[in-house]
Amino acid sequence: MDAPRRVKVRCCIAGGGPAGMMLGLLLARGGVDVVVLEKHADFLRDFRGDTVHPSTLDILRQIGLLDAFLRIPHRREQTIAGRFAEGTLALGDFRGLQPFDYMALAPQWDFLDLLADAARAYPNFSLRMRCEATGLIRDDDGRVSGVRARNPDGELEIAADLVIACDGRGSTLRDAAGLAVETFGSPMDVLWFRLPREASDPDQTQGVPARGRLLVMLDRNDYWQCAYVIGKGSDAALRARPLQTFRDLVAPLLPFEPARMEALHDWNDVKTLEVRIDRLQRWNIPGLLFIGDAAHAMSPIGGVGINLAIQDAVATANLLGPMLAGADAIDDVRLARVQQRRLWPTRVIQAIQRIVQARVIASLLDATPGGLLPTPGVLRLASRFLAFRHIPARLFGYGIRRERVQFGPRA
Ligand SMILES: Cc1cc2nc3c(=O)[nH]c(=O)nc-3n(C[C@H](O)[C@H](O)[C@H](O)COP(=O)(O)OP(=O)(O)OC[C@H]3O[C@@H](n4cnc5c(N)ncnc54)[C@H](O)[C@@H]3O)c2cc1C
Repeated sequence: MDAPRRVKVRCCIAGGGPAGMMLGLLLARGGVDVVVLEKHADFLRDFRGDTVHPSTLDILRQIGLLDAFLRIPHRREQTIAGRFAEGTLALGDFRGLQPFDYMALAPQWDFLDLLADAARAYPNFSLRMRCEATGLIRDDDGRVSGVRARNPDGELEIAADLVIACDGRGSTLRDAAGLAVETFGSPMDVLWFRLPREASDPDQTQGVPARGRLLVMLDRNDYWQCAYVIGKGSDAALRARPLQTFRDLVAPLLPFEPARMEALHDWNDVKTLEVRIDRLQRWNIPGLLFIGDAAHAMSPIGGVGINLAIQDAVATANLLGPMLAGADAIDDVRLARVQQRRLWPTRVIQAIQRIVQARVIASLLDATPGGLLPTPGVLRLASRFLAFRHIPARLFGYGIRRERVQFGPRA
């Protein structure tokens, strides 16, 4: 067998999702010699989460990419509604918030392509597609000193002063490092599918809570991106039944004719997201740091996964960029600062997600399937006040402990 080819870089990022691509771009802008490894051939994966919250829009503005992002076909959503038995109620409201009074819904692959194109402008950046990190290289004293990888040409060894794992919730490097993970249960999984949208449909992203069921419909202008919440682990049993069973479960929750469910031809049109909330107890060991989903998998509640990953990337570039841009040996003690900064927002959002899962979703799913829920009195009253409707928009949309880009040139 051929010996693996060897490459040497200052920083190797494993995983080209939102965390890895944003971090790669930020480090490249600041002059760091950086390579991003992405195991897929492109970014074209459906249902990866397309919610780009104001916190991320603001980062794009700070690095001069906002106009280019807004040229991607997208939808701007100013309010998020709940549809109850008596009608629709605005529950989240971005109107009046600054600097962005909306959340954008844009295909994640376009967003990642934008970051990749911007990063490629820097000669010190390289993106290796179809290159999968398979393990860690350690030096004699156990410090991580690189990544083993595989691409269509064979095995590769990438020696790096620092490895940053951004390889998502199924992280290979997390397993390779053998770090302890705290897992918090979830009562639900989610089935994603698309339905065609017609001009006469309501013009609104909405959650539809019903007895025993919950549907979320994201308005994507020319189609509906739908998330149907099911009990944890019940996917296989449901899929063993004819697709018509699923169509019949969802149809009563739609704000239009049930026949639209015929757009689903077979179970391949329905994708499962196994919901998980977990967190590494320690995000770093000498030579290696984890951020994004690889450090903390998020529940889809609030659609915050992408935005938290981006905030982690900005904090990492701010805290470690200056050290990486120099030539000195990496000070491994500094790696812990990323976790110190980002643990609190992660904890708070995960705690809220766990409360919503336990108090709202679990009790919904426990009930025998029935009609739409009546509007809870407290929500009917509270939703009259913009300040109340701003709470979820601020919490999930703007996030906690918002990062500002401090490393690299000003846009
Ligand atoms: C079905 C679904 C729907 C979602 N909906 C939303 C939503 O609406 N809003 C939201 O904010 N979040 C959503 N999320 C979560 C969101 O996608 C993640 O939280 C976010 O993408 C995390 O970014 P990341 O860069 O940390 O990880 P990821 O996006 O998972 O990126 C990891 C990248 O690493 C690559 N990779 C993995 N292993 C390796 C390896 N060994 N070597 C090289 N490359 C590797 C992967 O191909 C991937 O490109 C959803 C997730 C799923 C699965």
